[in-house]
Amino acid sequence: MPDLLYLDHNATTPILPEVRDAMLPWLENEFGNPSSVYSLGRRASAALTAAREQVAALVGAQPSEIIFNSCGTEATNTAILSALAIDPDKRHIITSTVEHSATIKLCEHLATRGYGITWLPVDKDGLLDPAKLEAAITSETAVVSLLWANNETGVIFPVEEIAAITARKKVPLHLDAVQAAGKVPINLAELGAQYVSLSAHKLCAPKGVGALYVNRRARYTPLLRGSQEESKRGGTQNVASIVAFGKASELALKSLPTHPESIRALRDRFEQTLINTVEGVRRNGADEPRLPNTSNLTFTAIEAETALLLFDKEGLCCSAGSACSSGSINPSHVLTAMGVTRDEARASLRFSLGRTTTEADIDRALEIIPRIVGKLRAAQPAGGSPVHIKS
Ligand code: PLP
Repeated sequence: MPDLLYLDHNATTPILPEVRDAMLPWLENEFGNPSSVYSLGRRASAALTAAREQVAALVGAQPSEIIFNSCGTEATNTAILSALAIDPDKRHIITSTVEHSATIKLCEHLATRGYGITWLPVDKDGLLDPAKLEAAITSETAVVSLLWANNETGVIFPVEEIAAITARKKVPLHLDAVQAAGKVPINLAELGAQYVSLSAHKLCAPKGVGALYVNRRARYTPLLRGSQEESKRGGTQNVASIVAFGKASELALKSLPTHPESIRALRDRFEQTLINTVEGVRRNGADEPRLPNTSNLTFTAIEAETALLLFDKEGLCCSAGSACSSGSINPSHVLTAMGVTRDEARASLRFSLGRTTTEADIDRALEIIPRIVGKLRAAQPAGGSPVHIKS
């Protein structure tokens, strides 16, 4: 087996050794229920308090504004459904065409229940025009739900302008910051959004734990009822994973002054080398504002799904701008919303760097990718469409 070359940190991240060490006691002797009154339980409760402070610090929030839950998807569902439950007469939601499936699937479901959904478009660079948001808000609008940063292209939405508009129009704002947290500075105390989704597994902590930020002045109604999390989210907390989330947040905050710039330098070298040395390569999404770790590239006349299989044989992990479902390959909704053709979207790959990516990883990727792309193109019938290579 070749060494792993992991360039898919927007999908999930490896758990850092410090994070694993922090969580281990809570999987072993410290197994108390944080709601129990004896000291074993009180220690677990104190661990949650510490983690809440660490996560809050990462995003410039008060600890009391952080509600732990099971994942970013739960946070997003909770935020949108909370806003709808608070104002049941308002039945209009504004979101965008390039959201994560957590938002899209919920909004599609709500549309079948009679809610009106406005899907804001993006331009060819994946950028959102705040004036279009402003124009879409009506007296019926219950909530605006938008990405902070796009998981496929890394493009960052103008969240300050968005928050200023929703504040002026007095409409609750939910932002999905699952990809942004830890990669760019976030100061929720200044921003004024009502709800913000977070997820631990994009931050070098385990999967299956997340948080919803609820501004202390925002109205809120829980999705899961129960007494935990001050009755804001029922269910015994996943203490070990929450401790890991806290530690990962602390490490991410500490690295924010330097890490984004070093990862940006690696990403830019990777991207520019491919664009300048391999024919028919172009970037999808704006150069800026963009997450420093993400590069989404179209390689003309290849089939990305096939490239993934060949990369895998070399240990390289990344993502395709398409998804296989029921035997057919569906082009990415994010890329097609930006005007990328279906064929180009099927020829697109997302590379996302992370805390563990090194210069040597980039050198290796820059050797593997042009070689495999050349092989795929050579296997193509002249003038024909890309062919599947048996892997
Ligand atoms: N939002 C964005 C932008 C994401 O990239 C993801 C995960 O891929 C999610 C939400 C969902 O997070 P989770 O996997 O914790 O449910």
